[in-house]
Amino acid sequence: MEQTRGIETLQNWISESSNIVFFGGAGVSTESGIPDFRSQDGLYNQTYDEPPETIISHSYFMRYPEKFYRFYKAKMIAPNAKPNAAHYKLAELEQAGKLKAVITQNIDGLHQDAGSREVLELHGSVRRNDCMRCGEHFDGVDVILDAPGVPRCPRCGGIIKPDVVLYEEGLDDTTLYKAVNYIRQADVLIVGGTSLVVYPAAGLLRYYRGNKLVLINLQPTGMDSQADLVIAGKIGQVLGQITV
Ligand code: NAD
Repeated sequence: MEQTRGIETLQNWISESSNIVFFGGAGVSTESGIPDFRSQDGLYNQTYDEPPETIISHSYFMRYPEKFYRFYKAKMIAPNAKPNAAHYKLAELEQAGKLKAVITQNIDGLHQDAGSREVLELHGSVRRNDCMRCGEHFDGVDVILDAPGVPRCPRCGGIIKPDVVLYEEGLDDTTLYKAVNYIRQADVLIVGGTSLVVYPAAGLLRYYRGNKLVLINLQPTGMDSQADLVIAGKIGQVLGQITV
């Protein structure tokens, strides 16, 4: 009942606005079969020799590229995943001229697959890779997945690194700047599928100046008390009910 009322309010706010911005995280893609980090069945609750935060850090990558790539290929790339109702609804809202941008912490490329155009990938993408030695660029995930062990540049033999922001690495300034501008000017800010504990990404919310901050998440977050509307539920199911 509470969720139904929440979705009604969200529907009204969406219907009245043509300046909606979406900010999301790993929870947006769990309904596509990609595990998040912090849910019960998320990556952080599975057992590894070392914690995932350690493995997907810059220093670990530089020191143990083989072990990094074993984890990365198995857990961070999902070549067969398809967009879900949340991705599709956001793309539809953009096409209707209502949504200005999707700002995502995800690296899976599913927003683009669904048809979204203005996607700000704060943490990069598994679909872009560069040779660390000669700078050669490789699109797609095949160059990583097809390589036995550590992927090497066919041109110079250097190690190929994914264009993904690892722990200890900084975010791209231009992307951050654009994200801040979209959030600052947004009328409705919909935040979904994120635990809001990864900084500096989560800190972007403080730039929002409006009075329609919507949180759609399975579990409570530290921002719930500051939101104007909290909907506890699966984001694909919730956004799937919205009429554009
Ligand atoms: P997180 O794992 O910390 O939190 C995910 C949140 O989403 C949780 O609060 C969970 O309750 C919620 N959630 C899970 N499924 C949901 C659903 N169907 N509907 C609504 N809520 C749902 O994720 P985060 O905050 O994005 O931070 C983790 C970092 O991990 C990010 O920086 C991201 O780059 C990276 N990551 C990305 C992917 C991906 O690209 N798909 C997957 C895992 C992790």
